[in-house]
Amino acid sequence: MKNVVLLGSTGSIGTSAIKVAEDLPDRIRLVGLAAGNNADLLLKQIQRHHPAAVSICDPQKAKTLQQAVGFETEVWSGEDSLIRLATLPGADIVLIAIVGTAGLQPALAAIRAGKDIAIASKEILVMAGEIVMAEARKFGVRVLAVDSEHSAVFQCLEGKPPASIRHLWLTASGGPFRTTPIEEFPAITVERALKHPSWVMGRKITIDSATLFNKGLEMIEARWLFGVDMDRIKVVVHPQSVIHSLVEFIDGSFLAQLSTPDMCLPIQFALTYPERVQSERVQTDLAKFGSLTFEEPDVERFPALVLARMAGQLGGTMPAVFNAANEIAVESFCNGQIRFNEISQTVARALDRHSPIAHPTLEQILAADAWARAEAAR
Ligand code: NDP
Repeated sequence: MKNVVLLGSTGSIGTSAIKVAEDLPDRIRLVGLAAGNNADLLLKQIQRHHPAAVSICDPQKAKTLQQAVGFETEVWSGEDSLIRLATLPGADIVLIAIVGTAGLQPALAAIRAGKDIAIASKEILVMAGEIVMAEARKFGVRVLAVDSEHSAVFQCLEGKPPASIRHLWLTASGGPFRTTPIEEFPAITVERALKHPSWVMGRKITIDSATLFNKGLEMIEARWLFGVDMDRIKVVVHPQSVIHSLVEFIDGSFLAQLSTPDMCLPIQFALTYPERVQSERVQTDLAKFGSLTFEEPDVERFPALVLARMAGQLGGTMPAVFNAANEIAVESFCNGQIRFNEISQTVARALDRHSPIAHPTLEQILAADAWARAEAAR
């Protein structure tokens, strides 16, 4: 039995994680939940799973929830509530599925409290991968990937050393604009960008999948999770999203992990690791797929891949700037302030103007993040 704290329980990953917990009631117990604002769904989750503690951002909503659930579950709000949840006594693993960077401090707190972490929020490793992985080594805890690509790589590697890897191949669906001519990019609307061909996800990651910034973030995430340099991380477009990623070994052999695209699978793998547990939820009929195809990504239309490689190679505070500037640019696109193609231009400009600091402290990373947000907004 694993006692799980789930940060971001009301989101796309969070609700999939709840399904996994409900599939495996004798394996997974939800002991802590955190939501942003969705008090109605959080209430339903409390009533079903009876966690020891939950949190919600708005203190007023927390009060109302506390009255509704009685004293079986403590309801917290405020700045330190995510840290309190991440360090909850009795929790074995903390699944971080909060969009953006709000999960960084809770992730570090969980590690320092000796808990394994399962990371969906890729922004955490992009910003502070060096620090997070060093702390995990120091405290002897696991950092498990929830992103389907990194879960695939992890499953293919099965503990083989970085020296046995020639390349990690991250697959990309190519998003809704895989075949859209570059001349049409300025006219792309938010509604069109939110229609992903293979995955149903939160708003921010869906836009990131349309620009391929998501793949760029994943390249940097892979660099830290698997301890390989950026040169060995490649991207191939695979529109069917059946192969979730591949490892090419130094002898020329490839291993791939395949399934119908469904986030429940990598979530279950992370929450039950090192065991592989029976589940009927995800069914895959290879014959129905017919063919699996691969394409070279077009970096002219999707400059995010070049920017990510550059930010990852320069390292230091550059990935934090890449991530933060993108967050602001995505927000501005969703608010109708900039065009689709201006997302990558905004990030490129912020990267260009930043003077990176090598091996930064957490404070320096947070300062670079704040600088990039202001710069991108400007
Ligand atoms: P959603 O937007 O669907 O969900 C975000 C969750 O975070 C919600 O539960 C939201 O609460 C919560 N939240 C936001 N701010 C706070 C806060 N300050 N404190 C506590 N909770 C907060 O996002 P996704 O589930 O799609 O993505 C989550 C993360 O997982 C992202 O980093 C994404 O890149 C990553 N990821 C997602 C995948 C997917 O398939 N969706 C795949 C791989 C990675 P509320 O709704 O109550 O406001």
